[in-house]
Amino acid sequence: MDGLSAGQNETYSLTGAAADPKPLVVGVLRETFRDEHRVALVPASVRVLKKANLSVVVQAGAGTLAGFVDADYVAAGAEVLADRNDVFARADILLQVRTAGANADEAGPDIASLRTGQAVIGLSNPLGRPEFTKRVAERGAMAFALELLPRITRAQSMDVLSSQASIAGYKAVLLAGERSPKMFPMMMTAAGTITAAKVLVIGAGVAGLQAIATARRLGAVVKATDVRSVAKDDVQSLGARFIDTGLGDNAGGGSYAKGMDAEFYQRQQTALSPVITESDIVITTAAVPGRTAPRLVSAEMIRSMSPGSLVIDLAAEQGGNCELTRPWETVVENGVSIIGCVNLSASVPFHASQMFSRNVTAFLLLLVKDGHWAIDREDEIVQGTLVTLDGQVVHPKVHELLATNPGER
Ligand code: NAD
Repeated sequence: MDGLSAGQNETYSLTGAAADPKPLVVGVLRETFRDEHRVALVPASVRVLKKANLSVVVQAGAGTLAGFVDADYVAAGAEVLADRNDVFARADILLQVRTAGANADEAGPDIASLRTGQAVIGLSNPLGRPEFTKRVAERGAMAFALELLPRITRAQSMDVLSSQASIAGYKAVLLAGERSPKMFPMMMTAAGTITAAKVLVIGAGVAGLQAIATARRLGAVVKATDVRSVAKDDVQSLGARFIDTGLGDNAGGGSYAKGMDAEFYQRQQTALSPVITESDIVITTAAVPGRTAPRLVSAEMIRSMSPGSLVIDLAAEQGGNCELTRPWETVVENGVSIIGCVNLSASVPFHASQMFSRNVTAFLLLLVKDGHWAIDREDEIVQGTLVTLDGQVVHPKVHELLATNPGER
């Protein structure tokens, strides 16, 4: 990267940084993804960055939809700039929730505004839309993709996927409670006994476990399944029943599931079919990094459910776990509603932003020292997340994706 040089001990620092007393400027942009109400940095984190000798500029209104007004940023020590272009011009480091391929429809002008030597940190979907990572590289910017954080203990405080998935799992249950014609708890009343709602959660990862916990708190009878057998203990510890499909353990690397073939998913559908039929609410969260979501609920299975039942598909953005899912839409089939949730955590923007901001601040503090770059290229977290540098795509997986399928990129 222009202006970056390898220093001692494999640590990168700005050339002449010692002679340049000007600290790095962190820029916070208003998000442009559809219905995105989150902001990458909240005022409390501005204070933390100021203590680390960084300056912060914020686009006017960047945090308003999340409940953080411009005056809060000013009080925390940031400068609020009316013009988005000025943030691009002033910032050395841009923080965004959704950038590049994670905001494919709207990211074009932002990518065109990047300049050589500028850094971008955020979610950018480099495995799903690597062509956007290439475009960022062509601008000469240094990009870090937060989806690629290694799942190691040291990186837990930076893990935006987990913090946001947890919120999505919680909100999925509230959405189901609001849309369902039934209540969640069992109730014994003078008007007779009302049975508890039956909830099935497919995919017991971060979002799924939070969905289980929330549905249990509301009094539902909850069942859950996952292809990683270690999830069984987590499910049971939350008071839900684990559905073992008898297909063996399919844990992949980094605590994620392995991608399987169509025949496997067909067998899984067959095994889950009776449980889906009897459920009032099915919440699907199954995902495999870098792949489209596994298809686990067929149209036929939907037609076997009682009218008024619901499917809340949290994997809609990755193609959906249900055959009938359409992102952003509610499809009604035979009286069963299939809700294609995209970016559900953005509908709880205050806490989602607060958690994202804490994560991204912890990440940024790994990269700077005393207001200047101090990037250790040997650090596992840096190696895992750095996707572009010096005009090149430097992440091996993204590179491979671009090389193997250049026509589609
Ligand atoms: P994810 O979002 O990639 O997937 C969601 C869940 O879907 C996963 O549990 C996955 O196993 C499951 N799944 C995939 N294919 C499926 C299928 N065909 N049928 C049923 N389920 C399927 O995963 P995630 O929620 O981000 O995390 C998964 C696990 O990783 C969790 O147990 C979490 O606690 C753990 N984790 C560990 C760390 C760490 O060690 N630092 C950090 C974050 C998460």
